[in-house]
Amino acid sequence: MKKLSVVLLFICFVVTSGIQANAAKGDTLVHEVHKKYGEFLIFDNSDVNDSERERVLVTYTIKDDKLTKPKIKTHQAKYQKMAKDKKTHNKLWKQFANMIPKKNRQEITQFQVFTDGHDELLAYVLPLNYSISNWALAVDYKDSIANKNMYYSTLVHEYGHILMYKQKQWNRMFSPFCSNYVSLGKCSNKNSRANQFYEEFWAGVLAKDWKTMRIDGEVDYEFYDLYEADFVTFYAMTDPDEDFAETFEYFLFTKEPTKTKKGKYKNLADAKLGFFFEDPQMLKLREKMLKNLLKHY
Ligand SMILES: [Zn+2]
Repeated sequence: MKKLSVVLLFICFVVTSGIQANAAKGDTLVHEVHKKYGEFLIFDNSDVNDSERERVLVTYTIKDDKLTKPKIKTHQAKYQKMAKDKKTHNKLWKQFANMIPKKNRQEITQFQVFTDGHDELLAYVLPLNYSISNWALAVDYKDSIANKNMYYSTLVHEYGHILMYKQKQWNRMFSPFCSNYVSLGKCSNKNSRANQFYEEFWAGVLAKDWKTMRIDGEVDYEFYDLYEADFVTFYAMTDPDEDFAETFEYFLFTKEPTKTKKGKYKNLADAKLGFFFEDPQMLKLREKMLKNLLKHY
């Protein structure tokens, strides 16, 4: 899930001397993307004040990478224009499909268009079956067309969730005795990205504080003060899932963080980025996505 929230943290990155060739290549692409299209991580709220209850307008089945079988989900007259605007829906799907290589997003079998007015919820992904093998990508009609860069960065965030729930990384038969990271009622496998991310950055004191320092589901100021440097954004503090997705989004649109002379990252937020930067598969994917973005923006 992705909500527009005030980004309270800024992380400074310096181009590294390029120990990993792939990171350097991707960093050059990040530079190109920013130069050509501008900012992808920090956004202001929209000026339009039309918040309303979230409602799904239409759902599509993805077949042969195309939107098929539209099902209108609202009968109210005021939503019909948005619900039947196939041209825009196709464009929004294409923006996602053109950026993420097809083989990396086979789980997404449904596309939904919803709205809750401008801002608030921008997009989300949701599993469609118990075994979490099929997912829907849902995007807010109004936000998606209001700010193209924000839409792209939101898509990257949502894809971060899909990446975390890649099939082979989870034990679909949930065990109540799971000792690895648990989410969506599933037990992650020991060597999964989800569990490694959790073990490295959340397990222990942070997870304990996160459980106790919350008001209405959001972390309180004390938690924020204590752990500010551990997260790429305030929204990443929501839970380990959002942290993973936010960090993936920053991984895509920022350059590789530098390390100290002792080979350490300067804070935990950088170390989380390092989690992706030190994964050759992720570096390859980053390069492909940035190239696609430059080609199809
Ligand atoms: Zn999210």
